[in-house]
Amino acid sequence: MDGCAPGETVDMTAVAVVCRRDWKAVEPRDRTEMKNPAQTVIVHHTALLYCAHPRDSVPELTHIQHMHMQERGFDDIGYNFLISGDGMVYEGRGWRVVGAHAKEHNFNSVGVAFMGNFSDKLPSSASLSALLRLLRIGVLHGHVRPNFALVGHRDVAKTECPGEHLYTVLPKLRDQLQNH
Ligand SMILES: [Zn+2]
Repeated sequence: MDGCAPGETVDMTAVAVVCRRDWKAVEPRDRTEMKNPAQTVIVHHTALLYCAHPRDSVPELTHIQHMHMQERGFDDIGYNFLISGDGMVYEGRGWRVVGAHAKEHNFNSVGVAFMGNFSDKLPSSASLSALLRLLRIGVLHGHVRPNFALVGHRDVAKTECPGEHLYTVLPKLRDQLQNH
């Protein structure tokens, strides 16, 4: 990562997750623990600025958290994790915390958002492999069920999210997860 990570990273075996403290997240108003390992992983895009460097990603995370808490009235940033184009994984609510990203599905899913708008843009291979590594770690640590379903937000709600180009690669990611 050529030393560009803001502060320390927390090593989670094979994927480095930039923890909340390191992107200076504000404290959540409240948090609800998930009772069981997640059954579903829901892929989103932020539909905002494309971020591929911490100097863009960190202010963007602050912006998204502020927007979610102040404008939408959520308890915290809505997603469990966010992934930038350079393959960095940022901790949102983290594992085992109920998110606010897909109505009626938050209690048994993990919401992962790619930072950018993928209606017209292809997700980077670094970001896709970061997702795969994150999910393998999630299964390994028992946060996600081994037979979890990987879906796009549009599979569970009437939305364009996660953008056509990101949505289109999901079948390939499912294959890669199965054949590993
Ligand atoms: Zn979404």
